[in-house]
Parts: sequence; C-alpha cells; structure tokens
Amino acid sequence: MDNKEFRKQAHLLVDWIADYLDEVENYPVKSQVQPGDVFNSLPDFAPTESEEMDQIIHDFKTKVLPGITHWQSPNFFAYFPANSSYPSVLAEMLTATLGAQCMIWETSPAAAELEEKMMIWLKGITGIPSCWSGVIQDTASTATLAAILTARERCANFESNKSGPEEFKGLRVYCSTETHSSIEKAVKIAGLGSSNLVKVKVDKDFRMDFVALRQAIESDIEDGLTPACVIATLGTTSCTAIDPLSEIAKITSRYDIWLHIDAAFAGTALFLPEYRSMIEGIEHADSFVFNPHKWMFTNFDCSAYFVKDPELLIRTFEILPEYLKTSTRGKVNDYRDWGVPLGRRFRALKLWFVIRSFGVDGIRNKVAEHIRLANWLKGRVLEDNRFELLAPVTMNVVCFRVHPLGIAGIEELNRLNEKLLNQLNGTGKIYITHTKLNGCFTLRMVIAQTYVEQRHVEAAWEQIRKMADEVCA
Ligand code: PLP
Repeated sequence: MDNKEFRKQAHLLVDWIADYLDEVENYPVKSQVQPGDVFNSLPDFAPTESEEMDQIIHDFKTKVLPGITHWQSPNFFAYFPANSSYPSVLAEMLTATLGAQCMIWETSPAAAELEEKMMIWLKGITGIPSCWSGVIQDTASTATLAAILTARERCANFESNKSGPEEFKGLRVYCSTETHSSIEKAVKIAGLGSSNLVKVKVDKDFRMDFVALRQAIESDIEDGLTPACVIATLGTTSCTAIDPLSEIAKITSRYDIWLHIDAAFAGTALFLPEYRSMIEGIEHADSFVFNPHKWMFTNFDCSAYFVKDPELLIRTFEILPEYLKTSTRGKVNDYRDWGVPLGRRFRALKLWFVIRSFGVDGIRNKVAEHIRLANWLKGRVLEDNRFELLAPVTMNVVCFRVHPLGIAGIEELNRLNEKLLNQLNGTGKIYITHTKLNGCFTLRMVIAQTYVEQRHVEAAWEQIRKMADEVCA
C-alpha cells in the first residue's frame, strides 16, 4: 500500500468509524454467532500475494463484525465496561501512527514525560496522595502482580529475586472472598502458592470483615508464617462493595504489611468528592490501581498504578543490560523498570486527549449521571414485587433477580434467572451478565457505558420485565 492509497482508505475508514459509533446501538449488542462461525469463514492459509484493501475491509465488515460484541453500545450493561470515546479513538490513531515503543525515556521523551504528568493530574483529580508516584500499566492484573512481587521482595529484603522460592516460603497474602480472580493469579505467578492466599469472609454487604482479617493475620504470625500483603478492594467485581479501607489500613500499619488497593473499576468514582471517603486511610497504604480503560472513557488498555515508594518497585523490576544503558539514567523515569514488560505502548496520549476533551467536570458529570441512572433502576426493581435487590447499590451496579411468588427453592430460582439472562442476551437488544451472591444466581446490570442515556436504561428495564413475564409464565 502506498501513501496515496493509505490516505484514501483512511478517509473512508474514518467515515465508517463515525457512522459505526453513531449507529452502534442498532447492532445486536452481544454477538449472535455460534462457535466456529468466524473461524470457518476464514481461509486456512495466509495469502501469498498482496490483497486489495477494499477486499480486506469488505471481509472485516462481513466476516469479523458479526462476531463482535459491541462494547461501545449504550445497551452494553455486562461485566465492567471497556469504554472508549471520540477523543480516545483519535489519540489511538496517533499512537498507532507514531508506533513509538516507550520502554525508556530516550525511546520517546515526550511519552515518558506526558505519562509522568498524567499521573500527577490523576492524583490531583482523585485525591491519591500527591507524594505518591504513578505509572501506566496495561491492566489491573499486571499492576496487582507488580504490587505482590514488590511486597514479596520487601518481605525477603530483596533477596527472593536472587535466591528463588526458598526465600519466600510461608509468605501470606490476604483478600476477601469477593476479591477479583486476578489476585489469585498474581499470587500463583509470584510463586507464593495459592494455598498462601487467605480469603477473608465478608459482611452482609460483601465488604471485607476486618475483624476476621486481623484474626487471620494474628493466627498466621503465631504459626510462624509471614503476612506479606493485604488487598483491599474498592468496588468488588460482583456488586461494587467497598472494603473498609481505614480499618484495614490500621491493621496493615500495625503489622507492617504491604497494603494494595484494587479500585480497578470504581477508582473513577473518586472524580466525585462524595466518593472520596472510600480512600480514607490511603496514606497508610502502599499501592493503588484503577483502570481508566473501564469507566474513564479511555479505550483499553490503560491502567493507572500508584505507589507510595517507587524505589521499592524499581528495585523489584530493575534490570540493566548493556544495550539499554543511557546517559540520562537516574535523571528521568525509565518506565521499563516500573513493571513486568520491557516494551510499552504510548498510553498517556489517550489519557491526555480524554481528560482535556471532556474536562474534569465533563467526566464528573457523566459518572454522576451513571450513578443516578443506577439509582433510578434500583427504584424500579424495588417497586416491582416480582424482583428483588440482592446487594446494596454503592454506585452504578444493580444486582437483582426475579423472584416470583410461590418459588422459594434456591435451585429453581437460580435456573429461572439463568434462563431469563440467556433469553435477554439472545435478543441482542441488551447485554447483561451474572454473578453469584450468597449462592443466588444474580443478574448484574452495570450502567457505565460512555453513550448510555436514560432511554437505554428504561428500554432495558422494559425488556427485562417483558422477558420475566415470559419465563415466569
Ligand atoms: N480488579 C477488579 C475489582 C476487577 O473488577 C477487574 C476486572 O474486571 C480486575 C481487577 C482486572 O482488571 P484487568 O482486566 O484490567 O486486569
């Protein structure tokens, strides 16, 4: 492809992108293809000769697009969102065009310095202590792995990286039973052994029971084990429960344990002053992660990781082969030492575009509107006696189920709600996902999509009620 052809195709594609985003709500939000449909539509061998871009784009529209679940649809209420937005897409175009690999300051000083500045902006907006340092990671899973590895090294006096597993036998990590699976994965990868992950029970609102946490830690110390890290979650994946950070921080401070805060989704709520109480006690914590790629309108991937002491992080990850030595070392941030991968995308650019284009108030207003819409939906669930709420609505996730009169058995209710979920998603009109709370199959509706409006939530609720009529009949 030459520059002339690129220019032509790029203009066509930008028009297609704008049309797509304009009409995305009309697509079946959850892809309706069957397993193997896309795979079988593709040739088994790569083309030997160059193909025309017109043909490639035609195949994208006819073969790939039907197999896409439309995460940018305002009818997407599943999982947690992976939001994009117009300014974010524009920045990604530039990132792809520059194709910069931002492993060290020298490989693109602007990328390193914009990243440093964006982390400062985010601290200012969210109330994360200004003396902390931030770095962009790909995902919260990677950031949490970095936290657990750093906690491990700190406990082993930075010997475990050298000596291997013997140095970190019996190191314990604590989280609640509602904590995201990425914590268990990180504990496994860090070589601590998943049997050393202690899952502390939760209270009736699905928040970590801090008394049980203290007891677990004290009992481990008595048994000669070493508490290494506690993970507090602000906004659990199932129902956005908020662990009692200040109480947990008192315990970790007393026993000198690394405290990592996983606010992957809910961190964006910190844009609103009324949610700042979530991070009371953060000054006693050691690390914090939240994902602008979830609720902050910045397309995947972009995870903001903050640490109280960057030296501990750098000592954990630093590696210095000859070919990466530079004369600026020590004077600038070489982010390759701040996490697992060497190679890094230029992710700060989209944060810069998003924050400037929305303005902090623009993001704040959208987030507040999502919370208002969730509370509107909560009201509808509460006033319809066929439905029941299964968890407090702390921000913009509503957990509920249909519970018709006369059905009391949990298994039967679970089957009924699973059927309701599958039928709803089969319409292609809305997409919601489920969780289990206290053994109950729970419909979980997340109102956080960039383009969602009241009319979409109203239509979704109508659809849910109509389908409930059918499955309960
Ligand atoms: N932590 C929580 C609370 C989450 O809900 C999720 C994902 O939904 C993660 C961590 C993992 O996020 P990522 O996909 O960025 O690794």
